[in-house]
Amino acid sequence: MAREIPLERVRNIGIIAHIDAGKTTTTERILYYTGLSHKIGEVHDGGAVTDYMEQEQERGITITSAAVTCQWKRREEASSPVHQINIIDTPGHVDFTIEVERSLRVLDGAITVFDGVAGVEPQSETVWRQADRYGVPRMCFVNKMDRMGANFFRCMDMIRDRLKANAVAITIPIGSEADYAGMVDLIRMKAITWQSDEVGAKYTVNDIPADLQEQAAEYREKMLEGCSDADDDFAEKYLEGGEFSEEEVIAALRKGCLASKVVPVFCGTAFKNKGVQFLLDSVIDFMPGPRDVEAIQGTIPGTENKESREANDEGPIAALAFKIINDKFGQLTFVRTYSGTLKKGASIKNMRSGKKMRIGRIVKMHADKREDVEEVRAGDIAACIGLDCSTGDTLCDPGNEIVLESMDVPPAVVTLAIEPKSKGDQEKLGLALGKLSREDPSLRVRTDEETNQTTIAGMGELHLDIIVDRLKREYNVETNVGKPQVAYRETITSNIEQEGKYKKQTGGKGKFGHVWMRFEPSEPGSGVEFETSIVGGSVPKEFFNAVEKGFKEALTRGIQAGYPVVDVKATLYDGSYHDVDSDEISFKMASIMAFRDGARRASPKILEPMMKVEVITPEESMGDVIGDVNSRRGQVAGMDERAGMKVVNATVPLASMFGYANDLRSRTQGRATYTMEFSHYDPVPQSVANDIIEASGGVKYDVDDE
Ligand code: GDP
Repeated sequence: MAREIPLERVRNIGIIAHIDAGKTTTTERILYYTGLSHKIGEVHDGGAVTDYMEQEQERGITITSAAVTCQWKRREEASSPVHQINIIDTPGHVDFTIEVERSLRVLDGAITVFDGVAGVEPQSETVWRQADRYGVPRMCFVNKMDRMGANFFRCMDMIRDRLKANAVAITIPIGSEADYAGMVDLIRMKAITWQSDEVGAKYTVNDIPADLQEQAAEYREKMLEGCSDADDDFAEKYLEGGEFSEEEVIAALRKGCLASKVVPVFCGTAFKNKGVQFLLDSVIDFMPGPRDVEAIQGTIPGTENKESREANDEGPIAALAFKIINDKFGQLTFVRTYSGTLKKGASIKNMRSGKKMRIGRIVKMHADKREDVEEVRAGDIAACIGLDCSTGDTLCDPGNEIVLESMDVPPAVVTLAIEPKSKGDQEKLGLALGKLSREDPSLRVRTDEETNQTTIAGMGELHLDIIVDRLKREYNVETNVGKPQVAYRETITSNIEQEGKYKKQTGGKGKFGHVWMRFEPSEPGSGVEFETSIVGGSVPKEFFNAVEKGFKEALTRGIQAGYPVVDVKATLYDGSYHDVDSDEISFKMASIMAFRDGARRASPKILEPMMKVEVITPEESMGDVIGDVNSRRGQVAGMDERAGMKVVNATVPLASMFGYANDLRSRTQGRATYTMEFSHYDPVPQSVANDIIEASGGVKYDVDDE
């Protein structure tokens, strides 16, 4: 079967924005105009196509990223070739940055939507920085031009100043606020206007109105300068005063956009249906196709070798499961095929589980229906039904293995004890949490073997709130939860050498394991290391593994308050053994004892998650906000001004941020807002450590009975 749509006419794009900027509305309109959404769903009546999780609609935030496929002909001309646009939805709330990162990995380009009144808001900055990290080419849509106070040029300045982007206007607005009528297309130097706000209203293309001609000429000049930044040949011709065709301008802008040297900016209003068609044309003109971006890299298993996989239908299969959704039809696994062709019935290998499996049904998600397809070709996105995998898994040719880069998962900083309201639901709860954590790698689930207590851990209070809510709605499991707790960690801060000896003589064969180990703090974030430097066989090689296992087991319940221990290096350098009595268990126990005894004397510290917090507040509340941050053990890192509001940047321990949303609201009569994301782990002050140790009841070891 030949390809229906050639690869150069495929676009995988995401729409990223601060919450409320209009991402959902813009997506809705795109789906409408691409003809696949026959009935328009407004956000307020909860019919939005991409918001198919009930709860998202209630909260008004898009939690999950779904991928929707649509088709578009440039300038809606019948003779234009069909392009396929896959839209990967991204969430707008900062608690879900993991979801944003996940979608940024699989998309090739992004539209950033801004509120024409608010301009660049904190979340747009966060996401912009994430997109920088993944080198995603972007264009900007300044939305809500119909709102009172909307200002396209101010927004352009903010994109330049705040985001340090080479923003180039491709359109300028005609009219403003309630009289917003359309825009001047600076490429063709024409006015595009709509006669009504109705959805589906057609636009007309006319000459630029006299009162805008001067401004249009000025901005066209700026646009041509932008093209020159991207293309030397263009620059030369520009300096010589040459004339440019539409194609030349588009080609130069495209080149600049793909290289992230130019960010094309458009204006419009999704809600009032102005500018969406132009935006779609621009996706085709300026956003990369799968072959315009660098080929994905992966690691060949068992080696450190990196290889890339070109977007080629005939290449070896390499696909990434980037999103898992469980709904009433079962599990849907959204995959992006980077190379090769993923066919129905084909046998593939899941590189995480090592399992071989067969691809069952494959579907494409359209605005209003699912379409069964036979295959997903290189560079395309679709969903497999019932595939046994988790978010982030690589699927590949069993004969041609590769592991695509794993995703950056932030640590789970908040934990919550959870139990079913009715005892009979224990198993249902376990199954549901299992499914949810496959969907969401930033959700961790743990059951304490001794107490049988289940805890869930995640990126913030809201993240876990939503999980609890989903348990109820989607899985019908009502739960009781404890108070959210901070996920502390422990570490050591000085070097220590320690002996560990495990010896038992109870008639018959005894037990004997004896080690000398060195424990050292390692770089924050470096994790845990284990080495051996045994000379002369004082501890036989066959027990090294057991010693390592013991060390790692000891790390799971920490030194002072029972939290996991991180950033420690252990070296096994001496010990002794007994010909008959030594076995793996004995050496494991000896290692556990060495760590527990040693770590206590190695200046242990408790670490707490520190959050980067940004508060946007009216000036009159600023003093209050700062005083409050200080009283929460926070440190103000800087202050700024944004659209008439003050911005306070601070680093605050997560422990003192519970309930902050409410406090801030009452402190500022609801006028201030904040965002928060994980920054790093820091040692807690001694007085706080004492409280934490006391609350934990301390750590009691009972090694002998294990
Ligand atoms: P999201 O949070 O970014 O997905 O934003 P939504 O699409 O849900 O939009 C947030 C609110 O802004 C909703 O009430 C929309 O109706 C409204 N909105 C979206 N686009 C526009 C626009 O172009 N003009 C106006 N006036 N309101 C808009």
